[in-house]
Amino acid sequence: MKIGVFVCHCGTNIEGTVDTAAVAEAAREFPGVVFATDTMYACSEPGQDEIIEAIKEHKLDGVVVASCTPRMHEPTFRKTLERAGLNRYLFEMANIREHVSWIGRDREANTNKSVDLVRMAAAKLLNNKPLHAKYFDMNKRVMIVGGGVAGIQAALDCADGGLEVILVEKTSSIGGKMAKLDKTFPTVDCSSCILGPRMVDVAQHPNITLYACAEIEEVNGYVGNFSVKVKRKATYVDWDKCTGCGICMEKCPSKKADNPFDEELGKTTAINIPFPQAIPKKAVIDPNFCIKIKRDKCGVCAKVCPSDAIVYDQVDEFVVEEVGAVVAATGFDLVDWTVYGEYGGGQYPDVITSLQYERMLSASGPTEGHIKRPSDGKEPKNVVFIQCVGSRDKSIGRPYCSGFCCMYTAKQAILTKDHCPDSQSYVFYMDIRSPGKMFDEFTRRAQEEYNARYIRGRVSMIYPKGDKLVVRGADTLMGDQVEVDADLVVLAVGAESAHGASDLAKKLRISYDAYGFFMEGHPKLKPVETNTAGVFLAGSCQGPKDIPSSVAQGSAAAAKVLAMFAKDQLESDPAVSVVDIKRCIGCGKCISTCPFGAIKEVDFRGQPKAEVIETICQGCGICTATCPQGAIQLQHFTDNQILAEVNAVCRF
Ligand code: FAD
Ligand code: SF4
Ligand code: SF4
Repeated sequence: MKIGVFVCHCGTNIEGTVDTAAVAEAAREFPGVVFATDTMYACSEPGQDEIIEAIKEHKLDGVVVASCTPRMHEPTFRKTLERAGLNRYLFEMANIREHVSWIGRDREANTNKSVDLVRMAAAKLLNNKPLHAKYFDMNKRVMIVGGGVAGIQAALDCADGGLEVILVEKTSSIGGKMAKLDKTFPTVDCSSCILGPRMVDVAQHPNITLYACAEIEEVNGYVGNFSVKVKRKATYVDWDKCTGCGICMEKCPSKKADNPFDEELGKTTAINIPFPQAIPKKAVIDPNFCIKIKRDKCGVCAKVCPSDAIVYDQVDEFVVEEVGAVVAATGFDLVDWTVYGEYGGGQYPDVITSLQYERMLSASGPTEGHIKRPSDGKEPKNVVFIQCVGSRDKSIGRPYCSGFCCMYTAKQAILTKDHCPDSQSYVFYMDIRSPGKMFDEFTRRAQEEYNARYIRGRVSMIYPKGDKLVVRGADTLMGDQVEVDADLVVLAVGAESAHGASDLAKKLRISYDAYGFFMEGHPKLKPVETNTAGVFLAGSCQGPKDIPSSVAQGSAAAAKVLAMFAKDQLESDPAVSVVDIKRCIGCGKCISTCPFGAIKEVDFRGQPKAEVIETICQGCGICTATCPQGAIQLQHFTDNQILAEVNAVCRF
């Protein structure tokens, strides 16, 4: 093999602490290397042209580029080789930026380490073989998991693009948190007025099948060909018959259930349609409160339902959907703020969450849009908002900023004045973070036009005094202690990953961060992809996001799905495991360790043998380390290739 080596400066990123010319000079002595040079930016167009010219001029049949991480540019250089007529697997990359120049300042040590890495890459390349991708058909249907505003946007964009969409929503209606909001910043326009029509579009779109009250049970398959088992939870109402008339709710005598849609501020009936604009607008019985299901008494709803829709003995059902791509859009939940004993830990009825306040402000909420103290129903005068409750707080394991709380607190302060002109709002804050379009102007409006008093500092304690709550905190700008007699306290509770997000991540085989938010493929270049091909992300499931960003991500995920489905067939990576059938003793250890279920048992002349399903194998290599016979080799990372690298670095 004739190898060419290109050592990249990456501007001063590498050249600043690595003598790239010396690395190229050393490389000229390595076995197989016939050409070596240093180059300013190997990934740039002139840099790639230089590689192509060298391949032609020196009749190279293998290339090493020493530059940045392969995650960044391996695909770039593989394409360069293909443009010069070489197989893309006759290429190796030595990472002398992230693994060398960015982590050490000693130029001599860095240069020596770079020489070692290039020697290893060249030694491996001598053992590389051309590999050829296979092509397979895909099922051009997409499943969106989560029907908040991000999932709705992704579903509508995919459906408008002609795809068949399955939208799976855990609760009985789509809409997510946005459906609970009264108005939205920074325009203060009515949330349900902008979301409602989109929800109706979902219901009416001929390409969208909606499963509400449903969750993902199991995911099998691979990009282009996923098989997803969906659990349709028992609602105890036949939705094909239910017209959403609501007569059952009027007559149901069990009115004790906390209303989850109103964030437990109000009560609701055991049979319930969560809100007037719900999609689908169908009743659901909560079996924990239904007198008939619990004690075999009552049965009023069955008697009054004009559609004969009540089915007390309904059970969960399962459907299997075949799809080619999945978009996770499961959003966020609020942090459990009751861990804050200093704020009463949930003991004071007049300390409520920001989402409860949204329900109070909403005309369709438990107080029909009137701000009332939960304790006595009186209109409050002094309303205290406390920001960063459960955000930017290492002590409870939530060091990150939830992003939207500064903005919605300003909105709530503005709306408080609109609803109660005699009121006075106080906002305790750590910093005001309002970097979006018209956002800073909005927070200033809350202070200047609506007279909200912003106090920079942490609240140390809330305690009751008469029918008031005393909020004691520090004003760090004035260097003073402050106490405010509050009638109502609203906590801007931070966001955390949706309940059950980690379970879903395991089913989808995607990664999640330390806080349960799903990990994107690359923080800058692949914000809606994941590391599992065919699974995409939209909205707050990836990290807290406001509505515009969630919608943008929903559209971005849809664009990725549409682009993938625009191809006739998908290409499979040939760097997968292969079983040497003569060595395999059929012990099945690889089958149980493969995290992707990519190995199956087959019968070979009466003997059990392992066989890799190429389209499912992700090339992780776990099976090769597991097999006691050494019967599985991962192509492009065979034992010989790895040992050649080890020998190359150990020789000196
Ligand atoms: P969500 O709204 O959380 O929707 C996720 C959906 O997925 C839900 O329907 C959920 O039931 C479903 N789901 C979860 N897990 C599963 C599962 N395993 N299977 C199936 N379905 C599942 N932003 C603004 O831009 N303007 C504002 O004025 C504003 N005010 C706000 C006020 C408050 C008090 C709060 C807390 C947030 C506010 N936001 C505001 C932020 C806004 O709520 C979010 O940007 C938006 O809800 C994110 O949408 P999403 O679809 O990503 O997530
Ligand atoms: Fe109306 Fe019957 Fe549906 Fe209740 S279950 S909303 S009564 S159709
Ligand atoms: Fe499964 Fe082996 Fe492929 Fe990894 S390399 S996905 S363990 S078959």
